[in-house]
Amino acid sequence: MDSGYDLLVVGSANADLVIGVERRPAAGETVLGTDLVTSPGGKGANQAAAAARLGARTGLLARVGDDAHGRMLREAQREAGTDTSTLLVGGAPTGVALITVDPAGDNSIVVSPGANARLTPEDVAAAEASLAAAAVVSLQLEIPLETVAAVARAASGTGTRVVLNPSPPAPLPDDVLAAADPLVVNEHEARYLLDDGAGSDDGGDGDDAPERWAAALLERGPRSVVITLGAAGALVAERAPDGPVRTVRVASPAVRAVDTTGAGDAFTGALGWRLGRGSGLEEAVRFAVRVGAAAVTRAGAQESYPNAQELEKEFP
Ligand code: ADP
Repeated sequence: MDSGYDLLVVGSANADLVIGVERRPAAGETVLGTDLVTSPGGKGANQAAAAARLGARTGLLARVGDDAHGRMLREAQREAGTDTSTLLVGGAPTGVALITVDPAGDNSIVVSPGANARLTPEDVAAAEASLAAAAVVSLQLEIPLETVAAVARAASGTGTRVVLNPSPPAPLPDDVLAAADPLVVNEHEARYLLDDGAGSDDGGDGDDAPERWAAALLERGPRSVVITLGAAGALVAERAPDGPVRTVRVASPAVRAVDTTGAGDAFTGALGWRLGRGSGLEEAVRFAVRVGAAAVTRAGAQESYPNAQELEKEFP
């Protein structure tokens, strides 16, 4: 399978290296920590794993190093059910996130983008057939912006729907924003995009702040906007053909959150899959909040993602 994906994710793959510490070290200090835990991560790889585990026909266009971390990441995708024929190898070591976590759950993270920074527009051009045949392509910002822009441009030529999660947040060219359908942001990313000097009329907080952010974000060009609201679920905003903005809040199932790592990626991967299978945006978000809720009830990122049976059983 190298085409015909429900969802092609173009993005990052990282090895997450996690050590628990009593206290995070200050400059010049050495502290002892727990045994190292190595797990698959990176927003792109997480989204692909979430969709594939649910049963989506999923591809991942990403780059890893020719090293043990790269092999671990490929194996994790295979286990989830992702087609790895566009998982490229070489150019730099696999991207790594070095994470120390203290008993309060506060962490310090150093990211080495490594091979993620070497995923180029040429790699996108070489995967053109897969992109053209995918129903939906999902993008985040842990790879070079010029590569993200190349995907957005190619997708607009082939009619492939673009889901864009601008994370970590960065200024975005107008044509990339305009390609997003939807733009998926959490509260922090919404505030960032509206505060970067491009004409927000957002007047601060209040109960209807997400509705105002969504309307202001739609003004920036995306065809639709989804704002994730943690335990409160998500907000969907679309502009009707005749002009008015329609917003709907979708509640999350109430759960006891154990670990929210990678919940947003599970949400976005699930959303992309449902859109790829023809669901409307609100219906796809109703599905995605169930997957996000399931992901926070278990520890880890990819390890916490449900398969279809688990999802139906736990969040019918
Ligand atoms: P991010 O993880 O990117 O910061 P959010 O915190 O908004 O984004 O979470 C993304 C999605 O994960 C939410 O829309 C929701 O579906 C789910 N989620 C996150 N936290 C919780 C929670 N405490 N309870 C239930 N669902 C949650």
